[in-house]
Formats: sequence, structure tokens, C-alpha cells
Amino acid sequence: MSKLAIVYSRAQDGIDAPLVRVEVHLSRGLPGLSIVGLLETTVKESKDRVRAAIINCNLEFPKQRITINLSPADLPKEGGRFDLPIAIGILAASKQVSHDRLTETEFIGELSLGGDLRSVKGVLPVAIKSAESNRALVVPHDNGTEAALISSGISKTANNLLQVCAWLNQMDSLPDAETTGEIQMPHISDLSEVKGQLQAKRALEIAAAGSHNLLFIGPPGTGKTMLASRMQGIMPPLTEQQALESAAISSISGKGFNIKDWFIPPFRSPHHTASAVALVGGGSNPKPGEISLSHQGILFLDELPEFSRHVLEVLREPIESGKITISRAARQAEFPAKFQLLAAMNPCPCGFLGDKERSCTCALSLIERYRAKVSGPLLDRIDMHVEVARIPYKELRSNYATNESSMDVKRRVTETRNIQMTRNNGKPNAQLSNKEMDQFLNIPEVHLIMLENIVEKLKLSARAYHRILKISRTIADLEKSHQIEKKHLLEAISYRCLDRVI
Ligand SMILES: [Zn+2]
Repeated sequence: MSKLAIVYSRAQDGIDAPLVRVEVHLSRGLPGLSIVGLLETTVKESKDRVRAAIINCNLEFPKQRITINLSPADLPKEGGRFDLPIAIGILAASKQVSHDRLTETEFIGELSLGGDLRSVKGVLPVAIKSAESNRALVVPHDNGTEAALISSGISKTANNLLQVCAWLNQMDSLPDAETTGEIQMPHISDLSEVKGQLQAKRALEIAAAGSHNLLFIGPPGTGKTMLASRMQGIMPPLTEQQALESAAISSISGKGFNIKDWFIPPFRSPHHTASAVALVGGGSNPKPGEISLSHQGILFLDELPEFSRHVLEVLREPIESGKITISRAARQAEFPAKFQLLAAMNPCPCGFLGDKERSCTCALSLIERYRAKVSGPLLDRIDMHVEVARIPYKELRSNYATNESSMDVKRRVTETRNIQMTRNNGKPNAQLSNKEMDQFLNIPEVHLIMLENIVEKLKLSARAYHRILKISRTIADLEKSHQIEKKHLLEAISYRCLDRVI
């Protein structure tokens, strides 16, 4: 009689969840338990938890030689997520639970010594994959909300090992995973709370509509941070696929999973003291960093020149490629990082260069050094740089009620984004390649010649030239204009203040 059981589970690799076969074999010999298949220490600890959980549930722990193989062997396996499938495997091999449902089910969950199921990280990617494989998924009750997000799959939840055993023996049912709590908007500050700053608000709208990277430059206290924090409220909602990708990263990062954030682009604003690892990800078991947590959303870097040069340099590649590869020892992990960069900086170290009320005390060489920190390759990847000046007192007295709300702006932004997605084969304007620009820009020759003359006069780079064209395409899209007109082009050039000499 075979004393072999095979139970399906899933590992975590980047934001993927590859299938793992947990094979349990019982044989004669000295009683003992060995687990093979590239294990981290946490899986070894799983032995003790599984043994205690089985005994404390008044089930029998086989007094035989138990060999457990987690395959494929070359996959990294970490965490307590394999406790439940290992326990089920031991109970199935020793005929304490039926094998009937094992081929069509996947299991994930950590066990307490008493046999209770504890939540684990990264259940959402697992639920996506098990639904694709047409298997049901059994998860700890506390992971139910995540599993339930995958409407195409069947997910069951359990509080403890005994409930799972009763279900496998078809003596009791398990509840379906359910989304607890309503899906609703979290509180996002409204654009109408920002007085004045019409040009900066307009720039924010254009950036949101075309997914352009944007840098605000202005003295302290002019509302740069306040404006940036309103970006999330005017961005188009995520598609289901984008929402899933974004939620999968929250899920594996263990940063908590909030159902209220579903469909709302993430907004992350790491402090300027953040390390390169915190920003791009890393660690011995690679974890996603801020750039991946802001995937499909916004990465806001306030006080941009205060970030270390090294940190700013590591940002360049993911801005271009939309992903980050982290190499640690023998393994590599890839995380998506398609974020929109929003940044803010003072015009000079003291902050008051160009201010009408206070005068700047910085030496020219100091200003140059300060700006040099963000210039060059990073600045080249920022589409728009916009001055945010101090608001005149009379504007401060203006009435909030006349300001547009985030909802109004979001409606225009979403419409404009939809125009781009249809025309550009599913890409916002900022992500068009040079070849695609030729195809989709639609700009009369005479305007191109005008731009070329300006570029020559200001000695702008080829990158700047292309970025101006993409911004003007977005401005034309906001007006539902098929062609890029001269006024669109001129407005786009006005959002390149750092191209002008100090
Ligand atoms: Zn200064």
C-alpha cells in the first residue's frame, strides 16, 4: 500500500507564485522527519510546528520515517506558508485524511503549536495562480480578503487544521473567502484646498493625464508638497489588471493589505534619508522597495537634492525600464516598478532665489552645486519642471468655493487618458517611443521647425525635444484636438523652466 501523498502549494518569487509539490513519504525505519528541497531556516522550523500542531489536534503523528520533498528543488522557499500543506501531506500519507480533494486544491498557511492557522504574506499572487490552474485554494481566515479579490477562483478559509481535515474527509464544509469591509475611497486631500497656483495645478493635471514625470521648484512654504499630495486624487482609476499588480506587491511586501486602496493608484513619499535598498528593494530574501510599492502610481520625492547621489542614480534605470532586478548571492528577483515620478525642490540651498519678498544669500557656485545633484541623467528623465512661486496676498484671500475639486479634474484627466490609450495602443503619451511618436503625434511641419529653432537657441538636448513634444500631445488631448497646435507647443515649453539659464 502506498504511503505517499502529494499536496500542492506555492512559493514566492518576485511577484510570481510558482507551484510547489509537497511530497510526503512514510517508510519503515527509525521514526524521524526530514525535509529536503532548498530550505531556509524558517522551513526547518516548520517541522516542530507541524509536529506540535498535529499532536495538539489529537491527531496521530506517524511513528515512522517521514521524508518530505518540496519540489522543484531550485525554487527559494521561505516562511511558514508550507506548514499547512506539510501537515496535510503527513495526515494524507498516514490515511488520516482522504486524498480525494488533494489534486484539485492548493494549500497555504502557517500553523501555531495548537493547530490554529496564521496568516502569511503574499497570498494574492498565490490566489491569482491557483485560479489560473483551476484549483481551489485553502487559506488562513485572516488572508480571506486577499484571496477573495480573485473573482475567477474558488478560495476557502479555515481557522485551524481540524477544519481543513474535516473538509478533506467531506464531513464538513469550509466557508468561501469573503471580502470583509466595503470597498470605498480612502481620504485623499482635495485639490480645491490649494489656493491660487493655477499654473502648478495645470501642470499637475497635464502630468496626471499623460503620465509625465514632474518636478516642482520653489521657495519653502509655497505649497509644493501640498500640490504633490493631491496628485493621487486626480489620477485615472487603475484597471483591474493594474490594481492586481499593485496589490500583489503590497501583499508580498507584508506592508499590510488595505481593500480600501483597490483601484486607487498608490502614492509613496519616502524621506530623503531613505537608503538605496529602501528605495529600490533588496535584502537576502529580496523585498520590493518604494519604487515597486509605487508601481502603477506615484513616487514623490520631496527635497530632491537632499537625497544621496547614489540613491538618485539607482533610480535612473527603473524610470526608463519600468522594472528593477535585484541580485543577491545566487538568486535574482525582478519586481515591476512602473511609477510616475513627482518631485519637489527649492531653487537654491537657502530656498529664496527668485523670491519677491526675501533675497537669496547663496553664492552662485553653491547654487550650481545644489542643482548639479539633480541635473544630468536624472533631470533628463523628468518631463516637466515647473516653478511654484509664493502666492500674492490677494489670491490667499480668494474663495475656496471657486476652486475646482479633484473630482472635476479627475474626470478630464480620465477622459484624456482614455483618448491616449485608444490611439497609442494602450500607452500614455509619456511612454511613447520615438518611433511611436512619429506615428501618433500629428504635428504640422511648420510647428516642428519652430520647435527645432527654439531647441537650437536654448541648446536643449534631444531628450528635452522629445519630452516637449509628448507634453504638447497631452495638452492637445486635454482639448480633444487631433493636431498639435502652436499654443500647445508653447505651453509645453513653458513647463521646462530648468532649461533656461539661471
Ligand atoms: Zn539661496
